[in-house]
Amino acid sequence: MNAPAELPAPTARATQKAAHEANKLEKRLLRLTGQAIAEYNMIEAGDRVMVCVSGGKDSYGLLDVLLRLRERAPISFDIIAVNLDQKQPGFPADVLPAYLTALGVPFHIETQDTYSIVTRVIAEGKTMCSLCSRLRRGILYRVASELGATKIALGHHRDDIVATFFLNMFHGGKLKGMPPKLVSDDGRHVVIRPLAYVKEADLARYAQVKRFPIIPCNLCGSQDNLQRQEVRKMLAEWDRRHPGRVQTISSSLTRVVPSHLMDTTLFGFRGLVATGVADADGDIGFDETPCSVPESAVEVIRFADGD
Ligand code: SF4
Repeated sequence: MNAPAELPAPTARATQKAAHEANKLEKRLLRLTGQAIAEYNMIEAGDRVMVCVSGGKDSYGLLDVLLRLRERAPISFDIIAVNLDQKQPGFPADVLPAYLTALGVPFHIETQDTYSIVTRVIAEGKTMCSLCSRLRRGILYRVASELGATKIALGHHRDDIVATFFLNMFHGGKLKGMPPKLVSDDGRHVVIRPLAYVKEADLARYAQVKRFPIIPCNLCGSQDNLQRQEVRKMLAEWDRRHPGRVQTISSSLTRVVPSHLMDTTLFGFRGLVATGVADADGDIGFDETPCSVPESAVEVIRFADGD
């Protein structure tokens, strides 16, 4: 009998390359999530972290990455996965229990028919998301209390945070994003977003690599929020024309300079006096745009400044 034929070289190389890329992707997800957890002190020893799993790519990724990080964490903490079955038509109620059981992670499925409430209260054709998410939030807070969870982990990522920042600016008139860690609006829970530094494209790719059993998110039949869609399109276009722009915006949210904004509650503009001390980060308000000055121009500027 002939020996089995070897895979043609290009296919073997392609497989190797895919494995290498998947490995890099996993390392990046673990590194960025670990970094966010550490920088915001999201998880402490003895925490019981309730991970909200909707069946979408982001929450599957969150659970998977947290379980991996826990294996190598120097502290011990518990993870419990929670899914809210909102009784949307066609919701495959068996998918998550089967997945979570196979994963060996403790879980709780909360069944609450918010779908009927939302469809009854909201007129046909109007977006239902706002009421739906408010109801969901309240239920998840209650479940967190019942389960004794000390942290509630959500799967929002870098791109959600940047989009929310612009939505609040454009439609709410506020410089306000989606914080990586906050106290819930009922004041009783700490909510964390460990994927705050992770880009959505990485989570989409990770979901493919890991073959997560994705549950479609449009079962309710609601239209995606149009304003959010628009902002997402705007960001995608910016990033296409200027690669890395979304990452720059995300980083800028971690480096806020209140003295160069206009909020009198954040900076004491009224009591501001000259210090007599030069400050390289001081006002550049007369410059056209905040850009770096070429070395050759520095002498000219010194001369003009009278140095
Ligand atoms: S898409 Fe549907 S399930 Fe999701 S928040 Fe909107 S109404 Fe609720």
